[in-house]
Amino acid sequence: MADSLARVSREVVDCERCPRLRHWCREVARTKVKRFQDQDYWGRPVPGFGDPRARLLVVGLAPAAHGGNRTGRVFTGDRSGDFLFAALHRAGFANRPESVARDDGQGLRDCYITPVARCAPPANKPTPAEIARCREYLEREWTLLKRVRAVLVLGRIAMDGFLAMLRETDRPLPRHLEFAHGTTHDLGGGIRLFCSYHVSQQNTFTGRLTPRSFDAVLAKVERHLSRADSG
Ligand code: SF4
Repeated sequence: MADSLARVSREVVDCERCPRLRHWCREVARTKVKRFQDQDYWGRPVPGFGDPRARLLVVGLAPAAHGGNRTGRVFTGDRSGDFLFAALHRAGFANRPESVARDDGQGLRDCYITPVARCAPPANKPTPAEIARCREYLEREWTLLKRVRAVLVLGRIAMDGFLAMLRETDRPLPRHLEFAHGTTHDLGGGIRLFCSYHVSQQNTFTGRLTPRSFDAVLAKVERHLSRADSG
């Protein structure tokens, strides 16, 4: 049977490869946090989300315990998602400025979002082994998202996870690619990598990452995509 994004998503949701993460997600879903006590948590791995014809792939780290792990959609229902979706909306990639629930009518245009680990990890830190176990899903999405020309990595761990996946596909890459906010790298074949600090509260509340500095990265992405169109 031919692979598809829907098939990848179904397999992700049923995945049990990482016992530590599966236990943690279920436990968070059972105990909840006070402000969401009346809600049914998703509590399962969270699949990628977006436009199958996307030219922009956004690669994040992992769902948040009371965000994606509660709502079942990446960057949905938490402050990181508020920041990310507002910016994607300003740039024309999202049809709404907020992302609060799976049935909120949010839709992405020309953009697909996926994490390098699809289960919420304790302390927001998946282990390298957990990220490696989850890599197969990223690789399948990468293969299926054939129109991607820009990859925006949110944070160094997301970048390392994405590049590790690319290396496994035998794509020739330089040994070292620098991570710094706003840096970009040519990945060959008309595809460009864009680096940003992660949209976590730790970065956005401290001013390390501001809407303006994130918009500047998205503006570079848009310029690259419009050049790719005309090229
Ligand atoms: S992190 Fe990925 S590989 Fe591990 S259990 Fe979750 S979906 Fe499966």
